[in-house]
Amino acid sequence: MLCPLCKENELEVRENKKGEQTLCCSEYKPMLADDDDKDSWQNFGECEFRIPFKNKVFGKMSLDDIKAIMSGDVVENSDGATIELDIDSKYFTKINFPTKKTKFEI
Ligand SMILES: [Zn+2]
Repeated sequence: MLCPLCKENELEVRENKKGEQTLCCSEYKPMLADDDDKDSWQNFGECEFRIPFKNKVFGKMSLDDIKAIMSGDVVENSDGATIELDIDSKYFTKINFPTKKTKFEI
């Protein structure tokens, strides 16, 4: 699938040494600016688009969940929170949490 941000490059699923997967634009190329500084990661590619399967707020998504949000669907987790693609967001996703409601009586 073409990257929805740059609309020029293909998307790919990458896996790091810990087995964590991220959907990335092929032009997202993070590298250490300084080999001796582990905090100096920078993108040396032309596109920033990426969505990690494991989201700190939403939880873990499967490949099918990622496919669903990339086709414009909304994915819901067991807590009732939803996640969807949001190309304008810094994280490229929008997460909504359910509002807890209780009837108010006096
Ligand atoms: Zn791209």
